[in-house]
Amino acid sequence: MAEASPEAADLVGSSLEQRLEAFQAALPATTRLLAVSKGHPADLVRQAAALGQRSFGESRLQEAIAKQEALADLPDLDWHFIGRLQANKARAVLRRFGTIHSVDSLELAWRLQRIAAEEGLAPGILLQVKFRPDPAKTGFDPAEVRALGADLGHLQPLRCLGLMTIAPLGLTPEARLALFRDCRALADALGLHDCSMGMSGDWREAVTAGSTWVRLGSVLFGSRPIQP
Ligand SMILES: *Cc1c(COP(=O)(O)O)cnc(C)c1O
Repeated sequence: MAEASPEAADLVGSSLEQRLEAFQAALPATTRLLAVSKGHPADLVRQAAALGQRSFGESRLQEAIAKQEALADLPDLDWHFIGRLQANKARAVLRRFGTIHSVDSLELAWRLQRIAAEEGLAPGILLQVKFRPDPAKTGFDPAEVRALGADLGHLQPLRCLGLMTIAPLGLTPEARLALFRDCRALADALGLHDCSMGMSGDWREAVTAGSTWVRLGSVLFGSRPIQP
């Protein structure tokens, strides 16, 4: 067997264990692995959990609820919501997820704040920022987030941990790296620790730029059998 690297543990012919090990070896200690289990059955989450993976990302509430119920015997799983969050799902998402990566407007942040206070919850949140034009994605304008500055502390009991971004399709690796560096720089300017950036196709550039959470789905679990 070749050394542990994501290349060596190419999806074809490698096991989930080998891929998890390869990523643990390839990622710096400052970058955590969010295993994106959307589109995959609860059994696969169970397998990954048995191999030591704790943090899982889901993007659709109903699908996540079914999985969480099937895995209720594994209480120490750390669930992150990474999908578009509709206002009417805010309470249910708060009850079921410890971290929300996809807070894409102030209106949503205020709603989450009010409901979290009512529910006695203190979830971690990340503000989703759109650093390049992308009609397919929502998110804050970077200038809007910069202007928030010290007001981020006023979102308590929400704990604003950092920023999340998704690179638009079709960028060169250099352009993606520049985008991820913009995200890191804005988080640093605001004194925020986390940058949730990097997916299966661009995690290397995100790690180079200082990602603290890579959100990996297909490169870890294969293509999604359940269409989200
Ligand atoms: C699906 C998804 C991912 C994982 O995508 P892969 O390309 O399969 O790694 C990461 N982040 C978000 C927000 C997603 O919706």
